[in-house]
Amino acid sequence: MRPPTRRHFGIQSGAAALSSVRPYRDIYRRECRQIHVGNVPVGGGAPITVQSMTNTLTHDVNATMNQIRALEEAGADIVRVSCPDEESTAALKEIVRQSNVPIVADIHFHYKRAIEAAEAGAACLRINPGNIGNADRVREVVQAAKDHGCAMRIGVNAGSLERDLLEKYGEPCPEAMVESALDHARILEDNDFFEFKISVKASDIFLAVAAYQGLAEACDYPLHLGITEAGGLMSGTIKSSIGMGMLLWSGIGDTIRVSLSADPVEEIKVGYDILKSLNLRHRGVNIISCPSCARQGFEVIKTVETLEKRLAHISTPMTLSIIGCVVNGPGEAMMTDVGFTGGGSGKNTGMVYVSGVADHKIENDGMVDHLVELVEKKAEEIEAARAAEEAASEAADTRVSAAE
Ligand code: SF4
Repeated sequence: MRPPTRRHFGIQSGAAALSSVRPYRDIYRRECRQIHVGNVPVGGGAPITVQSMTNTLTHDVNATMNQIRALEEAGADIVRVSCPDEESTAALKEIVRQSNVPIVADIHFHYKRAIEAAEAGAACLRINPGNIGNADRVREVVQAAKDHGCAMRIGVNAGSLERDLLEKYGEPCPEAMVESALDHARILEDNDFFEFKISVKASDIFLAVAAYQGLAEACDYPLHLGITEAGGLMSGTIKSSIGMGMLLWSGIGDTIRVSLSADPVEEIKVGYDILKSLNLRHRGVNIISCPSCARQGFEVIKTVETLEKRLAHISTPMTLSIIGCVVNGPGEAMMTDVGFTGGGSGKNTGMVYVSGVADHKIENDGMVDHLVELVEKKAEEIEAARAAEEAASEAADTRVSAAE
């Protein structure tokens, strides 16, 4: 299969820059403007961010904050909350105060909610300016956004396209979605507002991908990717991975939200796994494991399940290979920070690899505790090396400035 087209996309991702000795892995990201959602940069070569949305009642601050904290812990860069009524925007102030990640207020039609959300400290408003009524209302919302340093997201959805576009095109299609997005964008541009990103979501992956491809060509705003109403954990993950994977691989996309009928924390996990698979961003332990078969020297599936849970607290990007036997074990372990390869059917020991090199043998019993300990130690080493590198680079900068 040929990789998706890379026409005109110029920014080589950080991951690509590091792996350019393997050009088949390179992803050239679409060049676009950079905006800020709170302190998080979006677009313009910034790391692709992962976001989700709370499903609690926003006015229930405790419940909403518990969910936001769980999302933060899972690695969410940005969290969106619905603001359907005044009670919600009133609660937003406290939510923004308590949250460590920028909060996006999801507004649909009511311009007053948008103004209240901006005043409450929302970092971004998800709002379509064409849906909020007359030009005066748009001006008021834009002014509130400008006054409070608030970005916006134009969110076009195939299921709620404007009637005139449906009449013009006959049905939701990529052209109609792009036209809708550009119409909304023009309203903001006419108000001298450019701090926005755009999404053109559809539950149909063909439609969503084509709409995003069209929009990527037609503007230079950052793009928020999503396959909307994708379904449950399994089917939604598959649909999102195909749709967003195709776009991300071709360099399109600056922030992503996986929409699942599941715990929002799962959306963050899936989002990172999509980015990890494409080498676009790393967070936590990437476990490489075999499906297991009669040759396995230990219970691979159960071990991986346990390790995933026991290592969920580690955010340091690193790799761990858990392979059932020597058929693929040593080869996979060579490329990982920590590895374990089973000794083969009937044997109760396996080989532990550290930094790609065979290090010592251990008994299968107690193997999980031992590996968790090794991974935690390795994560500390990686963090210490990173801190030392940063300190050395800062010291070098200071020396250069002193010499100038
Ligand atoms: S690595 Fe070994 S145990 Fe795992 S699937 Fe392959 S042959 Fe089976």
